[in-house]
Amino acid sequence: MTGFTTRIVHADRRDAIEHGSLHKPIHANVAYGYDDARDLAAVFQGRQKGYSYGRQINPTVEALERKISQMESSLSTVCFGTGMGAIGTMLFSLLRAGDHFVSSSFLFGNTNSLFNSFAAHGVDVSFVDATRVEAVADAIRPETCLVFVETIANPRTQVAALDAIGELCRERGLLYVVDNTMTSPYLFQPREVGAGLVVNSLTKYIGGHGNVLGGAITETGEFDWRGFANIYDDYRSSDPALWGITQIKKKGLRDFGASLGPEAAHHIAVGAETLALRMERQCANTRALCDFMDAHPGVREVYFPGLAGHPEYDLAQRLFRHPGALFSFELADQMDVFEFLNRLQTVIKSSNLGDNRTLAIPVAHTIYYEMGAERRASMGIDDSLIRISVGIEEPEDLLSDFEQALIEGR
Ligand SMILES: *Cc1c(COP(=O)(O)O)cnc(C)c1O
Repeated sequence: MTGFTTRIVHADRRDAIEHGSLHKPIHANVAYGYDDARDLAAVFQGRQKGYSYGRQINPTVEALERKISQMESSLSTVCFGTGMGAIGTMLFSLLRAGDHFVSSSFLFGNTNSLFNSFAAHGVDVSFVDATRVEAVADAIRPETCLVFVETIANPRTQVAALDAIGELCRERGLLYVVDNTMTSPYLFQPREVGAGLVVNSLTKYIGGHGNVLGGAITETGEFDWRGFANIYDDYRSSDPALWGITQIKKKGLRDFGASLGPEAAHHIAVGAETLALRMERQCANTRALCDFMDAHPGVREVYFPGLAGHPEYDLAQRLFRHPGALFSFELADQMDVFEFLNRLQTVIKSSNLGDNRTLAIPVAHTIYYEMGAERRASMGIDDSLIRISVGIEEPEDLLSDFEQALIEGR
């Protein structure tokens, strides 16, 4: 069974499953009882596999973690209540005061905000243009521990120099962390470019239906943790390829408690079964919309790595199965961004991305409002920039909706 979808939909029944259920049941449960107190002690001391307490481990969540590891062709995964919970917990459990890390400056807004908070806790971060590997190399210092990038940036769709940065990190012995949310493991597996840890917001494409929050950190097996100073002695006893994820689970998840609940894990696991099908449709819709918008006189600029004029077009062609299901665009000068959005009938004015429904948001006025006009300008965020997260509707319906909204404004 090697196909991406075949593996996901048959993952649960590979293990002995209660009553032959085809879905892993929802274990709405916190604590686990043992007949023999010695077994209880052995589980707590890590000498025996077993369940201790719901904050660290739950069978339903564990089944989802195994599926995500399979999707990423990787060793091990820890799930969290949100994507932000995953990123924050990972960094808090791996970094110490005095450390430094390098991050792409093209980041999901809340991740950017989180990284800025690290300075107040004694961890320094350099933001660089990660489409250029030289910019990453120049920012590396003796105390640098890791490099963090996203695959395709939202909303302007810059693609990080993923393979070249992977090569650089390997040469310098640095941990390479890739946030794969925008591509999902169906379009791209960061392990292939040498990432040691992979981040996924399960809220987006993997869950896919806009009905549940979740996040995950996956250990690919590509990084040798023996060269990473911040692993506590307690977590150095297992296979060195697993030290990082062990510390993230034991120190991070247990101590911070940003745990994923079993009901949420079930929703995400059901959503994940159709990831490949949804992505195929969403990516085809995105391609059709971008080709249409790119040729339309009412549109000044379209940002999508699948268009030949995009600076990272070649890289996206080489690395990704499809160049994503999100694009952004600027309207021609005479058109009002709010009036345009209000003319859309099928497309929903909303935040979020990776939903089955197509969603549109005026970036400068909403998700990038707080950072102010000056920083927006420095990031190339125009006041008329609209981000579209493309859904699974029929392409004709989306095309005609955009067409009528653009025509009436001219
Ligand atoms: C949404 C998102 C996150 C955060 O995920 P939540 O589940 O909303 O906390 C992190 N990274 C990227 C790239 C995202 O799009």
